[in-house]
Amino acid sequence: MQDLAEGVAQFQRGVFPAKAALFAHLAATHRPSTLFISCSDARVVPELITQSEPGELFVIRTAGNLVPAYAPGPDGVAAGIEYAVAVLGVSDIVVCGHSACGAMTALAEQHDLSGMPAIADWLRHADAAPAHADTAELAALVRGNVRAQLANLATHPSVARALAERRLTLHGWVYDIPTGTVDDVAA
Ligand SMILES: [Zn+2]
Repeated sequence: MQDLAEGVAQFQRGVFPAKAALFAHLAATHRPSTLFISCSDARVVPELITQSEPGELFVIRTAGNLVPAYAPGPDGVAAGIEYAVAVLGVSDIVVCGHSACGAMTALAEQHDLSGMPAIADWLRHADAAPAHADTAELAALVRGNVRAQLANLATHPSVARALAERRLTLHGWVYDIPTGTVDDVAA
């Protein structure tokens, strides 16, 4: 925690003053253009990868960048999607997978998740057939999962409506940690 407190102090001293006008504007304005859905993985940093400023990305992060298909009932991911699309009016949604994803690896290698019931239940939202631990197969699984989550996203009523009215575009990306490459995944 010491590092985090030092980081906050450094932010206040060295970063905030240079962006003071932006933060003053953002105090009363929230108009992000993009909903960015990525994995919770600490190595995937949406604002860094896309060089976005505060206020530009509305971010939802889940283990495995999974987006459950729409179902009635309390659902934090669904609420975030509805808020971004129906209230904030984002024009684009990116679902971003990544290399070496722990969630995808657990599925590919059929890890024993019996002691992790929450993870086991959550990963059922992934569309992943067991594969070998092979890097190429894991990469294919990551891409396939991004495609599956884009399909799930389209089942959310706010998203379906915005797509039908042609005011929303969906994008699939895969971020490669060791090279910094971002590849498009066709929906
Ligand atoms: Zn991941």
